[in-house]
Amino acid sequence: TANVDYKESQKFASHMQDTEAVSEFAMEKSIKQQREYLPVFAVRQKMLNVIRDNNVVVIVGETGSGKTTQLTQYLLEEGYGRNGMIGCTQPRRVAAMSVAKRVADEMGVELGQECGYAIRFEDCTSDKTAIKYMTDGILLRECLGDPDLDQYAAIIMDEAHERSLNTDVLFGLLRDVVARRTDLKLIVTSATMDAEKFANFFGGHTPTFEIPGRTFPVEIYHARTPVDDYVDAAVKQAVRIHLGGLDGDILIFMPGQEDIEVTCELIKQQLSQLEESPPLAVLPIYSQLPSDLQAKIFQRAPGGMRKCVVATNIAETSLTLDGILFVVDPGYCKLKVFNPKIGMDALQIFPISQASANQRSGRAGRTGPGQCYRLYTERQFKDEMLIATVPEIQRTNLSNVVLLLKSLHVDDLLKFHFMDPPPQDNMLNSMYQLWTLGALDNTGRLTELGRKMVEFPLDPTLSKMLIMAEQMKCSSEVLTIVSMLSVPSIFFRPKGREEDSDARKEKFQVPESDHLTYLNVYVQWQKHKYSTKWCTDNFVHAKAMRKVREVRSQLKDIMDSLKTEEISSGTDWDIVRKCICSAYFHNAGRLKGIGEYVNVRTGIPCFLHPTSALFGMGYTPDYVVYHELIMTAKEYMQSVTAVDAAWLAELGPMFYSVKESIKTHREKLQDSIRTTASMEAEMREAQKEILE
Ligand code: ADP
Ligand code: MG
Repeated sequence: TANVDYKESQKFASHMQDTEAVSEFAMEKSIKQQREYLPVFAVRQKMLNVIRDNNVVVIVGETGSGKTTQLTQYLLEEGYGRNGMIGCTQPRRVAAMSVAKRVADEMGVELGQECGYAIRFEDCTSDKTAIKYMTDGILLRECLGDPDLDQYAAIIMDEAHERSLNTDVLFGLLRDVVARRTDLKLIVTSATMDAEKFANFFGGHTPTFEIPGRTFPVEIYHARTPVDDYVDAAVKQAVRIHLGGLDGDILIFMPGQEDIEVTCELIKQQLSQLEESPPLAVLPIYSQLPSDLQAKIFQRAPGGMRKCVVATNIAETSLTLDGILFVVDPGYCKLKVFNPKIGMDALQIFPISQASANQRSGRAGRTGPGQCYRLYTERQFKDEMLIATVPEIQRTNLSNVVLLLKSLHVDDLLKFHFMDPPPQDNMLNSMYQLWTLGALDNTGRLTELGRKMVEFPLDPTLSKMLIMAEQMKCSSEVLTIVSMLSVPSIFFRPKGREEDSDARKEKFQVPESDHLTYLNVYVQWQKHKYSTKWCTDNFVHAKAMRKVREVRSQLKDIMDSLKTEEISSGTDWDIVRKCICSAYFHNAGRLKGIGEYVNVRTGIPCFLHPTSALFGMGYTPDYVVYHELIMTAKEYMQSVTAVDAAWLAELGPMFYSVKESIKTHREKLQDSIRTTASMEAEMREAQKEILE
């Protein structure tokens, strides 16, 4: 049914005969030649002069012009590295790692030496490191210990057009840092033209430098009628392009990992059913993909066969792929958005913006004239897509940011210099959440507990759990649980061996808790001397477990620095459940039917996921708490633990009390609105006092 039919294009034939640029790229070039071929190389000296004469410079250039890989090296070659490191921030982990590897190769050094990277829980740098790529979250945390960022001689805030939450907060902080440190070079790069906004933010005299682009025309085809199933439509389109006889690689955008996997599978399947189809290398890319597989998208496919890369938003501007001449764009992406209904952030699929759509089509015209197939109509593009994506700061929970800024003594958050301030409701909501966790006091100031929580690179709930664990004498167990929660998946379920793997998994399950199940897996692995073979035998990801161990040791270091002791509760795992309850009491569910709960505060239904340890065990606790809700077909609770009602009353008194259980959800909701309102008023009073 998803047969997409496109508007015809007259220019089509003439463009596709122009294969000169394509063949030029088909030749192997030395790394030096590749570097000198990039558009930024032509303006190297001119750009460096502007940087020499100004402390803050905004640099604009098309994706692929060489901003991310070359700027750092140019600064190093110019001698800026003498007084400190050259740092470059990225909104995405994958980009930070992949670009650092590329630059290390270009420099002919080992990754982690002169050129390295840092992402959460993974520091691949050394004393020798002169160029450091990192996520914006890492640099933000570095501000805590080093508010002037003295280790850096230059900072490049890359991909500023993405407007990630952390980049936006860094903008506000760095604005003050450059005012204090006249020796620091700050470079803001953007792939789009709204650079003026960045320049204005840093003051009227901030220059914008434009790297002249080298782009080829891209023919854009819109679907004639709206598409029902974008995966199906994308697969068909890719197969049609592949069989169409024109050269060039294909790039398909998909919102997330699941869709990517299905798309890759279906393309391979459809081609295998054909009698004679030319070979096609189908390559996925998303953030949780192991890095050796990620690297494949940059490599030439065996025998020079055509590549078809199926990617998340990461390929929109963060990673540049050469040789793409066809783009298939379903028009969706996944965004983290605060969902007031469930009172927390949820990853949801949204239509992309017009700006994103144009970036995506641009990917087809980097190495030659290309084509972009949009799986949406021209009318949908014009009427249903926003001009630009809403910055993350205006749509997500800000608890982490609030905590961080408070500890940097930004007391009045409503006065912080944001480029686009977050909605006040959002800010107050996040402050309310921190207040219920005990991180802020009634006047909105950081408490002792809050101060400790900031030290952990974790969400506030998880850091609260770790800190409570010391008092409850189970910090060793909770340390493991928190570490297990920070890796994506522990169990694997290979095709054809589903029953085997399910049976193994069942052996680990602790019927009252997914969290304790994770703990159990780790304890067993530890007993088997962290063996890889044990992992394989038990269908547990060895690599993920090694990562857990590493994360655990890093969190342990932070605990040591806070003089928090690692204490084991021994065989008493009930206290561990109580500690879990102390952090998640706002996510509590009361039993309603088999596998079905309702959120105690909001009355929203939430369900046990079939993969949960509590599912189908014949044991249905009256109350549970959960790590998060995932919204798919139903609202599923992810990582669930059975708790006592009395614990909820004891640990979350602002939400629950014994007599209150007779109140209706509506009354409770009104209560919580009232509490927020009174807290808001209190905070306003407090702020007035501070000002007076
Ligand atoms: P920009 O930041 O302006 O979008 P980049 O510096 O990322 O541009 O890319 C410049 C060139 O480096 C591109 O031609 C790209 O293909 C190449 N490149 C970047 N990363 C890698 C990598 N990991 N492997 C191979 N080539 C890469
Ligand atoms: Mg870049």
